[in-house]
Amino acid sequence: MRIGQGWDSHRMLEGRPLYLGGVVIPSHKGESGHSDGDVLIHALIDALLGAAALGDIGRHFPPSDQAYADIRSTILLENIRDLITENGYVIVNIDTTVILQSPRLAPYIEDIRSSIARTLQIEVSCISVKAKSAEGLGPVGQGESIEAQAAVLLAEAVPELWL
Ligand code: MG
Repeated sequence: MRIGQGWDSHRMLEGRPLYLGGVVIPSHKGESGHSDGDVLIHALIDALLGAAALGDIGRHFPPSDQAYADIRSTILLENIRDLITENGYVIVNIDTTVILQSPRLAPYIEDIRSSIARTLQIEVSCISVKAKSAEGLGPVGQGESIEAQAAVLLAEAVPELWL
């Protein structure tokens, strides 16, 4: 078993779409970013890479590389999913927290879980997505930024010839 954790933060800008876990959430503000700004997927990617000790998101997808300009973060997550598999790991479970002032995420949590499950090709029951407000405090509480945290547990895959 191997544990990993990830964190990310993005500025919130008027008129940008708010992507979380590959789902567009109705909001007048969304994340700035070189990609679609999906702060939840970015934290999750860093947790997956951390668990496998394979570096971080910036090493695999440099912001200076125009190939990743405006790319959907779900595509980045698919790449990391394949990398994790190639390195002989399976995902046991994922726990995440999104911290933002608004909108309330409760109506979208199940869609976000399903989207991550689809992208990672694992059961939705293995994925937890929680949301918190910052109680009006700091840049997150003022709606100027959004943060996400992720924890991941990986297990070494059992080789097929053993099954
Ligand atoms: Mg990011």
